[in-house]
Amino acid sequence: MTDATDGTVLVINSGSSSIKFQFVRPDDGHTAGSGLIERIGEPEGRIIFHHSGGDIERTLTITDHRAGLKMLSDVVAEVGRPLHESGIIAVGHRIVHGGKVFYEPTLIDDAVVREIDRLSSLAPLHNPPNVIGLEVAREELPDIPHVAVFDTAFFHSLPAAAATYAIDREVAKEHDIRRYGFHGTSHEYVSGRAAAFLDRDPAELNQIVLHLGNGASASAIKGGTAIDTSMGLTPLEGLVMGTRSGDIDPGVVFHLRRSAGLDVDEIDNLLNRKSGLLGLSGVNDFRALLNLVGEGDEDAKLAYDVYVHRLRRYIGAYMVELGGVDVITFTGGVGENNIDVRRDSLADLERLGIVVDDARNKEENRDERRISSDRSDVAVLVIPTDEELAIARAAAEFV
Ligand code: ADP
Repeated sequence: MTDATDGTVLVINSGSSSIKFQFVRPDDGHTAGSGLIERIGEPEGRIIFHHSGGDIERTLTITDHRAGLKMLSDVVAEVGRPLHESGIIAVGHRIVHGGKVFYEPTLIDDAVVREIDRLSSLAPLHNPPNVIGLEVAREELPDIPHVAVFDTAFFHSLPAAAATYAIDREVAKEHDIRRYGFHGTSHEYVSGRAAAFLDRDPAELNQIVLHLGNGASASAIKGGTAIDTSMGLTPLEGLVMGTRSGDIDPGVVFHLRRSAGLDVDEIDNLLNRKSGLLGLSGVNDFRALLNLVGEGDEDAKLAYDVYVHRLRRYIGAYMVELGGVDVITFTGGVGENNIDVRRDSLADLERLGIVVDDARNKEENRDERRISSDRSDVAVLVIPTDEELAIARAAAEFV
């Protein structure tokens, strides 16, 4: 570890109760160390640090994000040099909501921090912990550039027709209500890799990217520019996710308020944390879901079917929006690993030029790969996402 962090970018993803971190070399993507600080604010927190010399894992109380980042600094010092002497060239911060203001990686100063904080009303669960991460990291590492990379940035280009909700225009304007989209760093990175894999100019390609992790989103990308995406004002819209409902009739909210007597926080919690696969089946992890399906659990089977149905609906919509698609790419924990979802979401589409090759789809492989048959007009790819590398590269631009 001692010299391993030289020349790396520290990528920080500071969430509501956890902080993920990774030391990434921006040129070749090498990871010199990574870890997770979790269950912040709970009686029993945990820090895990993987580095070239082994792993550190500790269970202890982590009172707040400030204490968490201090611990990160301590474990780094334990196996090498103190963080501020560890040779890192920049810090890249994953920031969830950039609103209408931020649409490219941005060098952080006090005014930028204030603006990200101001956007908290649009992302109350995400931007506040992002801001704390920013502030503490700037205190610990005052002499190197800190760069904010926004999850919404790639979707800044959405055409007005795709970005606009059909609600009262004055209300929308006053409250900045529009479709922003999220997971943009992943969609941008993966679509770029897909073009490179096919040895094609991104400007020539119509792409659909399916980012299927705990959160899930789809995007339609024309000539390298996003023209639609499934997440909206918040990351709740769109596909079925681990614990989020994705699309529902907003009437459900009024009904829950009026007939079930739930207040707005309870409804928020229900739709963001207790719905999706979890709500339908009792489990949010896709592997656990498939185990239940294998055991003949009917709720799990329905959850799977709803998940795939929603996915197919978006794929179909985006094919029409794009006027035909050249490449469909799966990414994220589910997209990269799950054979069934890839097969079922594109089954029986031969008339639309899409044929997944069964043997290629089943191949156990962690590389970028093609799973479509040679007779498929549309290339179907699996590309592991690497948001940390994308953030590290964006941050390194400022060095
Ligand atoms: P996040 O959105 O938190 O980054 P990930 O992209 O890591 O999430 O995806 C997590 C999801 O991927 C979980 O539902 C998990 O079950 C699923 N997953 C990971 N590995 C596999 C696998 N080998 N087979 C099926 N699902 C997997």
